[in-house]
Amino acid sequence: MGTDGQDERSELGVSWVPAILGGTPCFPEGPPTWPRNSEGVRAALEQVWRDGDWGRYEGPWGRRLCERLAQIHNVEQVLLCSSGTIAVELALRGLGVVAGDEVILAGYDFPGNFRAIEAIGARPVLVDLAADGWNLDAGELDAAYSPRTKAVLVSHLHRSMAPLPLIQAWAHSRGVQVLEDACQNPGGRVAGRVAGSWGDASVLSFGGSKLLTAGRGGAVLTRRADVFQRMKISNDRGNLAYPLSELQAAAIVPQLDELSELSERRRTGVERLDRALAGAGGLSRGDSMAHPDDAPTFYKASWFVESSLERGFHRERLITAARAEGIALDAGFRGFAGRGGQRCRKIGGLPRSRRAAEQTVLLHHPVLLSDAGTLDRVAAVLRALVEFHWPSTT
Ligand SMILES: *Cc1c(COP(=O)(O)O)cnc(C)c1O
Repeated sequence: MGTDGQDERSELGVSWVPAILGGTPCFPEGPPTWPRNSEGVRAALEQVWRDGDWGRYEGPWGRRLCERLAQIHNVEQVLLCSSGTIAVELALRGLGVVAGDEVILAGYDFPGNFRAIEAIGARPVLVDLAADGWNLDAGELDAAYSPRTKAVLVSHLHRSMAPLPLIQAWAHSRGVQVLEDACQNPGGRVAGRVAGSWGDASVLSFGGSKLLTAGRGGAVLTRRADVFQRMKISNDRGNLAYPLSELQAAAIVPQLDELSELSERRRTGVERLDRALAGAGGLSRGDSMAHPDDAPTFYKASWFVESSLERGFHRERLITAARAEGIALDAGFRGFAGRGGQRCRKIGGLPRSRRAAEQTVLLHHPVLLSDAGTLDRVAAVLRALVEFHWPSTT
């Protein structure tokens, strides 16, 4: 299996039986784990141990992390905190969002973003995604605007970078603030400029599955002193309410040095998968590039899946079957289009958000760093599963 230039289907054998139907899993060892134990992380953790800083409230690693993030994103202020979810909430408070305000976001997004708006007592206002991708549709912002609109919360999701130049221009014209969620694409580029540098406030996550990880953690980046000040006040309960530890900061700093090289490898990996999966029945990568100089960093590689009644094929079957083969495939977010009108205001029927919620599959990033032969096998298995004629009884 996996040799170049052959038909991928035949590589799996004419009598190939999916693992879910009793065949042998193609990757019995399961998907690669994350995080990887890099020498850089080891050196930093040994250093923080030698210096005795590992158990301190504050120290050089937290300061170093702030400096590096500020420099990478060309911002003045960085607030480290306990998660990306809390980073979104602190950023909303920093932007001065209060109960009764409205915050615009896409009808398909990370569930915690909707909840963060609600946590403040503000009201989510949902706009649809742009055609055939996972980007918020900037063309719908005007219809969503009201005098209560304080901010637009926009995420770079999966393989797509949100059209920040358009969103920012609209927001400026309306006096609305931009909260940029770069949790899934740290170090990515939007129209040539680094993700996390576009918002009035921008957020990162250092959660356990993320591209930069310390198990937990997050950060808010901003150029605005007033935003930073309000965030500091809301993080203050006499002590820090949502801290990031020295130990976590020490683990993250060396990963900043490794990020761009790993991102490049992930990009190459996704291109290889896309080439091998082009035209695979039921699977499409969408047309998610809003700008030629966009560069996602691929926390998740994403595709849309079209069900086929005659072949007994649908998304949940693909996900279960892929996982049985040892491939870390997941469903996308559930989205907010079905949420009740008491909880949010919706602009139109949100058909593309609904489609994304129903049809998105996500491939978790660790496998993207695999060698070419492994990636070809992953693609061959996915293609075989997508094109399989499923018995109607399973
Ligand atoms: C993971 C994630 C978050 C939140 O990060 P946590 O650190 O897990 O709380 C926010 N937004 C998006 C788009 C994410 O993928």
